[in-house]
Amino acid sequence: MIDSFRKYGRRAVVVLLCELLVLLPALGAPPPAAKQPAGPAVPAPVEPLPLQAYLVKSYLTLFKISPELHFTDAQYKAEEARLTKNQASCVHKFKEKVDAYNKRISADRRKLHGRKLVTRSERHALRCKIQDLRFERGEDRLLADHGVPIAYQNMKAKLELIQNWPTDYKQIQQELADGAYRNRRWGDVKDIGFRVIAKGQSKDIRLGEETIQQLKQEGMLPPEVKNKAIVSYVRRVAMRVASHSDLHVPLHLYVVNSNVINAFSFPGGFVFVNLGLLRAVDNESELAGVIGHEIGHIVARHGHKLMERATLASIFEQAGEVAAMVMTGGIASLGEYYALQYGFEGLGMMLNLKLLGVSREYELQADQLGIQYAWNAGYDPTGFIRFFDKMATREGYVNGVAWFYDHPPFYQRMVDAMREIDFLPKKSQYIVQTSAFLQMKKELKPVVAMGKKKAKNRPSLIPHAKGCMAPRKLHYKPGDNIDNLCGTASAPGLAKK
Ligand SMILES: [Zn+2]
Repeated sequence: MIDSFRKYGRRAVVVLLCELLVLLPALGAPPPAAKQPAGPAVPAPVEPLPLQAYLVKSYLTLFKISPELHFTDAQYKAEEARLTKNQASCVHKFKEKVDAYNKRISADRRKLHGRKLVTRSERHALRCKIQDLRFERGEDRLLADHGVPIAYQNMKAKLELIQNWPTDYKQIQQELADGAYRNRRWGDVKDIGFRVIAKGQSKDIRLGEETIQQLKQEGMLPPEVKNKAIVSYVRRVAMRVASHSDLHVPLHLYVVNSNVINAFSFPGGFVFVNLGLLRAVDNESELAGVIGHEIGHIVARHGHKLMERATLASIFEQAGEVAAMVMTGGIASLGEYYALQYGFEGLGMMLNLKLLGVSREYELQADQLGIQYAWNAGYDPTGFIRFFDKMATREGYVNGVAWFYDHPPFYQRMVDAMREIDFLPKKSQYIVQTSAFLQMKKELKPVVAMGKKKAKNRPSLIPHAKGCMAPRKLHYKPGDNIDNLCGTASAPGLAKK
């Protein structure tokens, strides 16, 4: 495995750094699709609620209502302190659970190596038990190391938004009034299609093709979805966005059979959309927003640039490190969890996470370009924020782990996106939902069910005992309130949205 990563690490990096969203499958029911694009200028009735109650509201709602909210500095400080304290106690709680699992696993391992077990079935049962315990430990470690901190980071970002957005918004209005907004990076949106964001897109085509080829050979790309109706629908949406973008190479779009909520791109015009993403989007403008982001990566030649920046040695080192963690069993929780669930994709994701630090700026750039392209194609540009929003608020600390990990600070990403939308010339109408999208959703159900069956037989990186019962379902549920999970005190009536 290490060797294969040495060999293919270089290519894999190009791919993985182009990922936008890496999330686990959404399990909860989708919220109703929004009909109208949101603008921050629309005043909404202000509910007389304590500050804490606003932290479960969506970002878009907070963009709208924050100018009407008036809390004191002392209240902000107290709320921040409360969040910090609850986070610490919750992380501690899950760390203790991890310790308890470690003890149980060690005890069972000793039994396995002892001489008392005689029959094969006894050994098998013990192996299965250890496997289950490892899985359960992985969940708690995931929560302690990533999930819980992300949930609180998310709430702190919302706190920051309530506090700072009114000032930021005034600044935006000022820039709109005096025309300064036109001088922002890529502010020449009327020339989309004729701009050069990064010279030499076509030089990336071969690189993209080779990367895809090699990853396919390694079994690291999920298989393509065959359903023609789904594929041609997604292709149409992508073509619409691409033809209103700065893409100067032919677009190749693939729909692949993976339940991870994700889309990713390769240099030279190759966009991959996972089935998981199609399940998670609630309307066409959200899908267009995500595809726009991926096209943004290609247009700005991020994959190519990252390869220039990261030395080969450093990439090999990191790839080797990840592979070594997997091989020795001393895996970081996230990788272990994902590897158990998603096999090779899990490892890819780890690699992605390790390297994401260098791509923060690129994410912000792709966000900006993606919003411009979706808007230029006639879509409601808030579709992208809505999708983010939904992931953060509903899936956030549970399923959004990889996505939020080491990405640009959430507040900054949301505010930058909203600012770009405010700077775009307003249109009288935007596409939000289409009948073709709803038709695609109908087609999706049987395809997803079939995909799940096949996924069971896919390889996993973790050597595992065969013939065990499937590990039990995870404890946590998407959309569940963090206070319920942590058992932290919440003011009455605040637990639910
Ligand atoms: Zn991205």
